[in-house]
Amino acid sequence: MADEPGEPVEARCLVAGEWRTSRDRAERVGPYTRRVVSVGHLADPAMVDEALAYAHRSRATVERVSPAARAAVLERAADLVDAQRDEFARLLALELGKPIKDGRGEMVRVADTLRVSAAEARRIGGEVLPTAGWERGVGTTAMTYRAPVGVVVAITPFNAPANLLAHKLAASFAAGNPTIVKPPPQAPAVSVRLVALLLDAGMPPEAVQVVQGGAEVGSRLCASPLVSAVSFTGSAGAGAAVARTAGPKRLVLELGGNAATIVCEDADIEAAAAMSAATGFSNSGQSCISVQRIYVHTSVFDGFTEALTAAVRGLRVGDPLEAATDVGSMVDDQAASRVETWIKEAAAAGATVTCGGTRDGARLAPTVVCEPDPGAALVAEEAFGAVVVVLRYESFDDVVEVCNQSRFGLQAGLFTQNLARVFEAWRRLEVGGLVVNGTSNFRLDHVPFGGVKDSGIGRESPRWMIDDYTVTKTLLLRGMSIWGDETSSGM
Ligand code: NAD
Repeated sequence: MADEPGEPVEARCLVAGEWRTSRDRAERVGPYTRRVVSVGHLADPAMVDEALAYAHRSRATVERVSPAARAAVLERAADLVDAQRDEFARLLALELGKPIKDGRGEMVRVADTLRVSAAEARRIGGEVLPTAGWERGVGTTAMTYRAPVGVVVAITPFNAPANLLAHKLAASFAAGNPTIVKPPPQAPAVSVRLVALLLDAGMPPEAVQVVQGGAEVGSRLCASPLVSAVSFTGSAGAGAAVARTAGPKRLVLELGGNAATIVCEDADIEAAAAMSAATGFSNSGQSCISVQRIYVHTSVFDGFTEALTAAVRGLRVGDPLEAATDVGSMVDDQAASRVETWIKEAAAAGATVTCGGTRDGARLAPTVVCEPDPGAALVAEEAFGAVVVVLRYESFDDVVEVCNQSRFGLQAGLFTQNLARVFEAWRRLEVGGLVVNGTSNFRLDHVPFGGVKDSGIGRESPRWMIDDYTVTKTLLLRGMSIWGDETSSGM
């Protein structure tokens, strides 16, 4: 061990400006240390309802915080995140088994996300519309502005609990809304620590509350008529349940994927293999855009597979608290066991496992599986674990079709020097984003991110989230034209 984990962190609920304890508690056992690292205080239905009522009453208070003041809070919070990066990374390692280097990387992104949200808070405005361009509009002026949507519910998954919370809460606050956060049961302490930091930075208590718990707590929030928008990140199945429960509310669903990366014959094979190894196994492959399916042109297949296997063997596996560790553990034994079963099934059906394939509790050795059956769970479902599969293709036209057979469509990667192919893939691949000369696993927090098909709806990143967290309100002035065209024949 790099150091001892210390006393478990109490992760309370934050309701109506007070940190609340609960008799109903859930211990979080760190998947690597196998010790209790945090204790979530679970909200009962009465506490959830109290949070909903308080958020609803707080709408006007939060709206009245000026965009300049909202931006200043978020910028101060970003500075605090920079100062506390290592403490957060340590907590991420303890609660999730996430290597400390990945945790630091996540916190660098949290600070970016907060600063980008601050910048967007300053840009919220409206439009004067060209009403006089149509006969019935002559003699009128129409203007719009973006008003806060109302109470926002933010439900986050375990794999990037700090940055995904930052995306939801910061953009919602930037837009002037009260937010209720429902953190993942696997990372209650990281989540409350980030909320506490935002309060320290000056976020008013009316703007944020936290209710701990699982699907029942999330579901009660989504069902409430007091809620105007739900921003959910998690699995496709849970996202579908959220959509059913929420009904006609603003919905942003950031769901799962089985991301494909295509390596063409003109690619830099060594670079593609090195990047695939690094981004297929960061956080043990537990990222929605982690490299899962690598389609390699048949002419470079053997060289790529060899280089990839060597690079994966070179990854440092071990204690997530050690600075040099590349791969710590998966989130829990069940998740690692599911992926191990899928690997064994693929191997039994004829695939070749070129490295890994073994498991100790939540620690799954980084695994490369070559040429599994296209119908294997490892290809068709979301693996969300320390495994990548390598598949052979012959024509670019075919590989695009094969990629599109997935029920998911979040992001894809493409290694090629051929610009015509880049445009063709950008147009034809059924995904929300394409990364060229990189794998699927790359995200900038200020560009739109999100999926199609079962990977979700909406685009997360502050500018686009603010569209979802605001409503366009129109003002129509009859007989008062900013265009000077005083007479209207319209009725
Ligand atoms: P999960 O679906 O099990 O849980 C996500 C969150 O939803 C948790 O807070 C959970 O308590 C809550 N929840 C579960 N069922 C619910 C319900 N019926 N109503 C309301 N809330 C409910 O997901 P997870 O295992 O924590 O995270 C992994 C999943 O998240 C993967 O599928 C991954 O691809 C996806 N993910 C997507 C993105 C993205 O941006 N598209 C980013 C990260 C993770």
